[in-house]
Amino acid sequence: MTSGSIDLRSDTVTRPAPGMVAAMSAADVGDDVYGEDPAANALEERVAGLLGHEAGLFTVTGSLANVLGVRAWVAPGQELLCEARAHVVRAELGAHAALHGVTTRTWSHPRGRADREAIRELMSPGAGPYLVSTAAIGVENTHNFAGGTVHPVADMAALRDLVQGTGIRLHLDGARLWNAQVATGVSAREYAEHFDTVSVCLSKGLGAPIGSVLVGPADVIAEARQWRKRLGGGWRQAGVLAAAGWYALDHRVDRLADDHTNARLIADLIHEAAGSVVDPESVETNIVLLHVGRQAERFVARARAQGVLVASVAPGVVRLITHLDVSAADARKAGETLAAVARDAGA
Ligand SMILES: *Cc1c(COP(=O)(O)O)cnc(C)c1O
Repeated sequence: MTSGSIDLRSDTVTRPAPGMVAAMSAADVGDDVYGEDPAANALEERVAGLLGHEAGLFTVTGSLANVLGVRAWVAPGQELLCEARAHVVRAELGAHAALHGVTTRTWSHPRGRADREAIRELMSPGAGPYLVSTAAIGVENTHNFAGGTVHPVADMAALRDLVQGTGIRLHLDGARLWNAQVATGVSAREYAEHFDTVSVCLSKGLGAPIGSVLVGPADVIAEARQWRKRLGGGWRQAGVLAAAGWYALDHRVDRLADDHTNARLIADLIHEAAGSVVDPESVETNIVLLHVGRQAERFVARARAQGVLVASVAPGVVRLITHLDVSAADARKAGETLAAVARDAGA
């Protein structure tokens, strides 16, 4: 973070607090490539249990967890369906295609939801010798580029019904699934039970320095463990990092509610100054999208000059994300600053 500024570019910018660092230095570790790291093994088991799946795999990033999850279901030349702004198609640098020959088709939904009718029209399992066969569908909850939106759990159940008997598998990109849990009171487990594999991040709102976990059936996770190593992601005393994730699960889940309150506060302040820039009712979790017209880059530069860091994520769209290193006072200050920038921009 640029010193003295309020960094709202992502919830990945947090620093490990002393309690977390203490947990990391006390970790019971071993060589995880041999499966001998007690802290990594414990974390994998804990997250799998929390999400109601058989087994877990600790990975360096959420992108790697998604790559391994999607690879498990989609053979080279088959397709993954997902929403048009999904992280798997926008922000993983084409990894699924570049590494595993996965093709994608997308549907669009204003809130990033799993639009049942659109998916029904796209789905073509076992498509034969001419058309690409659909092997899996990816859902993102909360949906990052749609503005931290949460899926109704009923939509997940409906999606499961839709693919029943087709052989199509479901992968959940739950990088911010904990935010969905805190926002709705629907447990991460209730969301996860509708999916064949689920990835969750420990390094977003939970504030661990590194780490995600992929969960799924034991045989799929065993194979993903081999692929992780094949891709260069085998690690040795990973327990040092797993301990940070463990600490995060102990101490950082319930407090996500504060991030949601702070995001809403920022949106309210901006809305008061420039009503068309943001609809506060659209803020469901810790992400706020600002619709700033054509001048997104200029908006970002002006905010930066006044000590608030935000990100341009699409033409005309600026994103800000609250996190544990943003206090309520920071949120108020950032909201006031961004409100002034939006007002001056004549938005
Ligand atoms: C951050 C994020 C990921 C994983 O990102 P990494 O930087 O690879 O850990 C995956 N999906 C979504 C929706 C995300 O926001």
